[in-house]
Amino acid sequence: MQKRTYKFRFYPSKQQEYELYKFLELARFTYNKQLELKINKYKEENINLTQFDLNNNLIKLKEDNPELKNIHSQILQEINKRIKFAFNNFYRKLKTKENPGFPRFKGRNRYDSITYSQSGFKLNKKLYLSKIGEVNIVKHREIKENSKIKTLTIKKTCTNKWFACFSVEEEIHKKQIKQESYIGIDLGLNHFYADSKGNTIDNPKFLRKLENKLVKSSRKHSRKIKGSKNRYKSRLKLAKIHEKLSNQRIDFLHKESRKLVNNYQNIAVENLQIRNMVKNHYLSKSINDASWNKFLQMLSYKVEETGGKIIEINPRNTSQYCICGNKVEKTLAIRIHKCNKCGIEIDRDVMSAILIKNIAFNNTITTVGTTGSNAWENVSVEASMNQEAQVR
Ligand SMILES: [Zn+2]
Repeated sequence: MQKRTYKFRFYPSKQQEYELYKFLELARFTYNKQLELKINKYKEENINLTQFDLNNNLIKLKEDNPELKNIHSQILQEINKRIKFAFNNFYRKLKTKENPGFPRFKGRNRYDSITYSQSGFKLNKKLYLSKIGEVNIVKHREIKENSKIKTLTIKKTCTNKWFACFSVEEEIHKKQIKQESYIGIDLGLNHFYADSKGNTIDNPKFLRKLENKLVKSSRKHSRKIKGSKNRYKSRLKLAKIHEKLSNQRIDFLHKESRKLVNNYQNIAVENLQIRNMVKNHYLSKSINDASWNKFLQMLSYKVEETGGKIIEINPRNTSQYCICGNKVEKTLAIRIHKCNKCGIEIDRDVMSAILIKNIAFNNTITTVGTTGSNAWENVSVEASMNQEAQVR
């Protein structure tokens, strides 16, 4: 069984939205009340209230605040779970003798989700929520048959959109697809990535446009006076661009990682952590870092479905050598790899991808660059050249 989350947007009516906001506010109230109780018990009597104790206290809380009876009881119990998680951090720091602060209370608009565990909701054509009724929901994909929905989290974004996130357990079916065995890819600034077959995939233009827009808007935003209406407006605008950018970027990363995993069993990449240490003085701390990390994460979990592997290699020398073993030094400005020994002329990132593949799958990891060009004898140069290096 595999855990997976399906996130669908839903559209409550005005009345339903009003009720949902009330839920969130009641949930926030409960969170703060229960947290206060737990902190006080700890401070005054050195007692660690368990989740069980907190669940029991809900009875009293409901007596004092009858409006809490309008909210599904599992939602309230789930709040106690969140308090427990928030406190885990506190206890951990206590153990390591750091001076921990208690988990913080949630201010207005700082509580934006509630969770149903197991009951209180039903998903058919519409989404049924207890005490709310049926709401319109857009399912851009169907949850697989035979899978178990474990929890539902209702989330409001800071741009006031509503999402239903279903946490689902489903059976894994190893996919039967026709794949080639090996490929190397080089993540870069010039191309999003280049592969050892000679393909280059670029960052889509719409992403770059949005990134520019984001930079401009956040500059404008910082000039607005704190607490002003204009600042509030520009914050909302900024949040909208952020959201759009992040959605579109994730779509792009999903699409590209899916393509690679469907076509290749084993994928070689550079280890990003080492690469950051080695090459950081070239690479400006950019949005790319986050994208690359996310991309590798996606590759890793997708590759699990097909039984393949991601191999991370040490990035040393993947940009300054030729497939023939000759050293070809290039500054970042030079985009074409030209070797005066074997005559190959090729996109520099494609050459890097070929080297990455060879290092990963021909076991030249320890020898590359350390013992000179002889180290390349066990690389099948000719084969690699014929199959992959499409000389321009
Ligand atoms: Zn060469």
